Amino acid sequence: MRVAFFSTKQWVRDAFDRANADQRFEFTYLEATLDIHTVALADAHDAVCVFVNDAVDAEVIAALSERGVRCIALRCAGFNNVDLNAAHEHGIVVVRVPAYSPHAVAEHALGMMLALNRRYHRAFNRVREGNFSLDGLLGFDVHGKTIGVIGTGRIGQVFCGLLRGFGCRIVAYDKYPDSGLADGGVEYVNLQSLYAAADIISLHCPLTHETYHLINDYAIRSMKRGVMILNTSRGALIDTNSVINGLKSGRIGYLGLDVYEEEGDLFFEDLSDQVIQDDMFVRLQTFPNVLITAHQAFFTMEAVNSIADVTVGNLDAIANDDEPENVVGPDRVHG
Ligand code: NAD
Repeated sequence: MRVAFFSTKQWVRDAFDRANADQRFEFTYLEATLDIHTVALADAHDAVCVFVNDAVDAEVIAALSERGVRCIALRCAGFNNVDLNAAHEHGIVVVRVPAYSPHAVAEHALGMMLALNRRYHRAFNRVREGNFSLDGLLGFDVHGKTIGVIGTGRIGQVFCGLLRGFGCRIVAYDKYPDSGLADGGVEYVNLQSLYAAADIISLHCPLTHETYHLINDYAIRSMKRGVMILNTSRGALIDTNSVINGLKSGRIGYLGLDVYEEEGDLFFEDLSDQVIQDDMFVRLQTFPNVLITAHQAFFTMEAVNSIADVTVGNLDAIANDDEPENVVGPDRVHG
């Protein structure tokens, strides 16, 4: 089975070469992102392996199908970038890695929360410059605060578990509340109540038609003044224009982003010698109370190895005409 990997970096090649040490698959590692202009690179391959910012829309899927591709293997959990209906129509199986390490993402969200609160990003630079002043670095105790968790699936649940050690109140919203979490003291409330109660809000729900721009002007107006918002899920959960206005007015006191709605043109590349053309992104970077990481929440050794092992297992099942466990069907159409 020949598999064309799009959007690869050295760490992808290392992890997948290890997982495919017996060379049962022939992997072609490509640096290009998959889109209609690069889809021809999938010629003569049975499968493509893609990541979060590959644009696997209906046009690309039709072009993949023409080239004989019969599997799209996502090496990530989210599948909002794949047109599942189109894949189904063309008989292309979509597989993913549903849970490579919820700990990696939850721990990163927690790290962002502490860094923003205690302003580690600013303190680090100050001390290096010989500036030992504490002005502007005043934080707050997380103990006793109310944390709002939106989406209590695998990652949200681990995040709630980590928070327990802080002695804070946790309020949560999920379309499908988890009874175990509720028994453990997490209070499920509706979104409006969560916005009204939370000092810190962390997003752990998928991007769907329902959750697109969940954090908009209306939501921000319902939140406590000075709220901290963390997004380690998908960029388009947040309306960037609305959070910029919220930051300017002081309604949002802190913003931690590991994802950004237009990240496809920026993240995972070294653009340090280029002029960034995305004015909204550049504006976000000007706020002292905004911390941005470039979609690295998943990036731990455990998670990367698990991504490679599960993806190779998914490809194995396809190669053997077995039903892979991690198929994403058209009934799970995301925005
Ligand atoms: P999951 O499927 O286990 O959990 C998602 C939860 O969201 C579920 O409990 C679901 O019921 C809930 N949900 C669905 N629609 C909702 C809605 N409209 N409102 C509120 N809740 C809703 O997924 P997970 O493994 O916990 O991952 C969550 C998200 O994190 C993924 O969708 C992905 O986008 C993102 N993610 C980001 C990174 C990263 O590196 N930054 C890595 C992995 C995953």
